[in-house]
Amino acid sequence: MKRKCSKCGEKKELNEDNFPKKNTGKGGFDSRCKECKRCYDLERYSKKKGEILEQKKAYYQKRKLK
Ligand SMILES: [Zn+2]
Repeated sequence: MKRKCSKCGEKKELNEDNFPKKNTGKGGFDSRCKECKRCYDLERYSKKKGEILEQKKAYYQKRKLK
C-alpha cells in the first residue's frame, strides 16, 4: 500500500521506514513522510531556539538598564 505524503506529494510505501508512526494519524502513520517530518521538526526547533535567544537578550537588556 502506498501513501502520498501531504507535504511533498511523493508516493511512498506505507511503512515505518517512510512514515513516522502516529497513533492519531490515518492507519497509525503520520500524513507526512519521514523526510518532511524531519524538516518540520528542525524548523520548529530552530524557531524555538531563536525565541529562547530573544528572551535571553531581553533579560540581559533589562538587567543592564537597572
Ligand atoms: Zn514528504
